[in-house]
Amino acid sequence: MTQALEIEAPELLASEELRMFEASVERFLDQYARPETVDQWRQDKCVGQEIWKAAGQAALLGISVPEEYGGAGGDFRHEIMLIQSIGRRGADAFAISLHNPVILPYITEFGTEAQKRAWLPQLCSGDMIGAIAMTEPGAGSDLQGMRTSARPVEGGYLLSGQKTFISNGQLADFIIVAAKTDPGAGSKGISLFLVQPSIVEKGFQRGRNLDKVGMEGQDTSELFFDEMFVSSDNILGGVPGHGLQQLMRKLPQERLVIAWQAMAMIERALGETIKYAKSRKMFGQTLAEFQNTQFKLAEFKTEATIAKVFLAHCSELLIADALSSEKASMAKYWVSELLSKIVDGCLQMFGGYGFMLEYPIGRLYRDSRIHRIYGGANEVMKLLIARGL
Ligand SMILES: Cc1cc2nc3c(=O)[nH]c(=O)nc-3n(C[C@H](O)[C@H](O)[C@H](O)COP(=O)(O)OP(=O)(O)OC[C@H]3O[C@@H](n4cnc5c(N)ncnc54)[C@H](O)[C@@H]3O)c2cc1C
Repeated sequence: MTQALEIEAPELLASEELRMFEASVERFLDQYARPETVDQWRQDKCVGQEIWKAAGQAALLGISVPEEYGGAGGDFRHEIMLIQSIGRRGADAFAISLHNPVILPYITEFGTEAQKRAWLPQLCSGDMIGAIAMTEPGAGSDLQGMRTSARPVEGGYLLSGQKTFISNGQLADFIIVAAKTDPGAGSKGISLFLVQPSIVEKGFQRGRNLDKVGMEGQDTSELFFDEMFVSSDNILGGVPGHGLQQLMRKLPQERLVIAWQAMAMIERALGETIKYAKSRKMFGQTLAEFQNTQFKLAEFKTEATIAKVFLAHCSELLIADALSSEKASMAKYWVSELLSKIVDGCLQMFGGYGFMLEYPIGRLYRDSRIHRIYGGANEVMKLLIARGL
């Protein structure tokens, strides 16, 4: 593994306990996310079940879930360490940073006691892998334009509609599905349903595992619902109509997670490029000795440092339950744009080798592009920031 650029750990992440946690994560990844394993995921277009099970046994799943529900009782700092360790070695296809800090908080924060007891232990043990299904073919940025409906029937609802681009869509056995329970009620007409595909009798189908520009090792799928029955007990929080509020409350954390993923990729790109620039010889000197190279890398290092400081600031706010949608949007928008800029600039320094997928920088170029789109396109982030002007 290439060591990332040495940017000092922010105070938030500097404790001895976190350092030991990080070391245990590294040992875990050394065993379960070796480069050849990551390559295999890409070929299979899916991560194997093995790493999920092992992560459950190693108490990495549900790291922030309270111990009484099977978690490890940690917090967002532990999630950051996980995201960074995974990102530094290009193993992002293992979507634990979706499962842990994006999906599980919906249950820990909004779930009824019965829902927490029913789902969290299985999601922490690795018996269940989670997904969240909001996006539809006709409704991505415009979430309220979703057409998936949940029609009330005795004891529950019949779900009908289509979702697309769902991460973990092939693997997941626990899916939070957004649907309209009252199409006439506007923002109060959306509910989140907790769906366990393996026990659904009829009306659920997984679609294709989609071919993507990058992140090929992570499964991304369409999902189809055709009058699929869901019990009323499986509405998140037990009461219909709160889905949009629940999403709005949790999306800032998802955006901060994406920003940290982008940060890890930036550090990896810089680490790889500095190493390469010092070894590549041309015109009687190394690439690193050209002033252009030095200036570019100095700019990148400066911007990367600023990004990391801002992310630490946002994370402190998140832990204090004070992260605004506006700041989370700034983090997601700015760090993902910086990622694209830095990866593109670094790739240029590799010359033709940068265009070869056998070099990590080529992979990073492909894998990094999605960060400006998912979790809310960056144009939507700017809208959210502009609302606070
Ligand atoms: C690999 C991958 C994984 C994903 N995982 C998930 C998942 O697990 N669960 C899930 O629910 N979704 C997931 N998504 C969906 C993702 O969140 C959406 O793709 C994203 O929100 C954008 O929606 P859209 O694709 O429908 O684009 P659209 O909404 O059609 O937007 C297209 C473009 O229009 C522009 N635009 C949009 N709105 C505005 C505006 N208001 N002002 C100006 N310009 C605008 C932006 O440039 C935007 O990129 C995933 C997507 C991908 C590609």
